[in-house]
Amino acid sequence: MQAQPKDLPSLDRLLNSPLLAEPCQAHGRSLLTQEARALLDELRAQARQGGLARAALEEGALCAALRQRVEARLAPRMRAVINLSGTVLHTNLGRALLADEALQHVMAMMAAPNNLEFDLSSGGRGDRDSMVEALLCEITGAEAATVVNNNAAAVLLSIAALGGGREVIVSRGELVEIGGAFRMPDVMAAAGARLVEVGTTNRTHAADYERAIGPNTAMLMKVHTSNYRVQGFSSAVDEASLAPIAHAHGLPLVTDLGSGSLVDLAQWGLPREPLPQEMLKAGCDVVTFSGDKLLGGPQAGLIVGDKALVQRIRKFPMKRALRMSKLPLAALEATLRLYLQPERLTRDLPTLRMLTRPLADIQAQAARLQAPLAQALSPRYAVATSEMLGQIGSGSLPVESLPSAGLLIAPAGTAKKGLGTALDGLATALRGLPLPVLGRVQQDRLWLDLRCLDERQEAQLLAQLPQLQEALA
Ligand SMILES: *Cc1c(COP(=O)(O)O)cnc(C)c1O
Repeated sequence: MQAQPKDLPSLDRLLNSPLLAEPCQAHGRSLLTQEARALLDELRAQARQGGLARAALEEGALCAALRQRVEARLAPRMRAVINLSGTVLHTNLGRALLADEALQHVMAMMAAPNNLEFDLSSGGRGDRDSMVEALLCEITGAEAATVVNNNAAAVLLSIAALGGGREVIVSRGELVEIGGAFRMPDVMAAAGARLVEVGTTNRTHAADYERAIGPNTAMLMKVHTSNYRVQGFSSAVDEASLAPIAHAHGLPLVTDLGSGSLVDLAQWGLPREPLPQEMLKAGCDVVTFSGDKLLGGPQAGLIVGDKALVQRIRKFPMKRALRMSKLPLAALEATLRLYLQPERLTRDLPTLRMLTRPLADIQAQAARLQAPLAQALSPRYAVATSEMLGQIGSGSLPVESLPSAGLLIAPAGTAKKGLGTALDGLATALRGLPLPVLGRVQQDRLWLDLRCLDERQEAQLLAQLPQLQEALA
């Protein structure tokens, strides 16, 4: 039976249905009215074309359709996902996860007024940097510290404040691009400094820097080539050799470390990343690094170093536009506090917990998940446990891989030609789950690296298997 436009209920009659009392109470009448109007418009158009069944206009069906619209409208766009990509610090997935203590501190500080810029001892105005400056100095051995929105901002601000209007000398081998818009030569220009390139792509020597220093030089800069490595016939001048050259000419040496781990990763058998504290010891005057890479905190740009230089950076007008908001600042403070208790790091800081997770533990998890997943995916896909190689991510240690384990999924009985389609179908179904699951497709297989799957998400993954099965049916 086809419905006619005249069969549609009026807006008021629909909204007054007792079946909508609860959503009306929960969300208020405005949103429901808006969505009801849109729903009725759509149904009217369908009825005009003779494509609407009478059953769709029954009170129960209409109210269910309306509730669904309201829910879809209110569904968050930013959603939690399960990261089985094998990349621990995945920039597209939000990088570091916060420690529980950081989450709790954020909640408490956002729910009440706080002393963000208020000095509780004097009763006068305070500085938001003071929330983390002492911690950063204690951890890195710096004289002073300031923080901004992210490391890109830290680099921009440091160059603008210390090198604006003058020349900044950088090795050609270090003119990095980090994810599209952040390219060192462009950052220099945006900061109002003139980039002076020295050396060649693969080799730069101390004499190259010496020769480039002139009356307009403001500073020497080192950039950690975090997301690539120049191998083979290459040489660079390290910070310890460059600092005396800079200082002999009365110039500061600024280093952008990118990731900048605050603890030596080698103690857990992980590849080494330079530490800000080592850079300062080597003679760097200012070091910048990210808050949400290996440090394991919120998005932030940390600037540590010489007191007078940090003060110039802090007082530079651009700082006001790049300053950190109270929300990540609370998270950063709580995260840094964990570094005062180094034994806790691999237990309570998610990034280090995941990076140091024992392989045997990941293998056991893979063994545990193999059967339930195989069952949900049979008979179309075969699921096997497998060793795999993950990555730290976020440009940290790009050529090193992390031995890991997980599940390797292959379409069963599919001709080579249909493999891609079958794998895409599975990857799409996994992404379509209420808690989307992200793996990686490679070599005609779907790889689910389990390093980042904690107990809670493992339970959530298992609970979703019936939905996955349904989506693939
Ligand atoms: C990641 C990185 C940046 C940018 O840091 P964000 O915190 O992402 O803004 C800058 N320089 C280097 C060397 C990096 O690795």
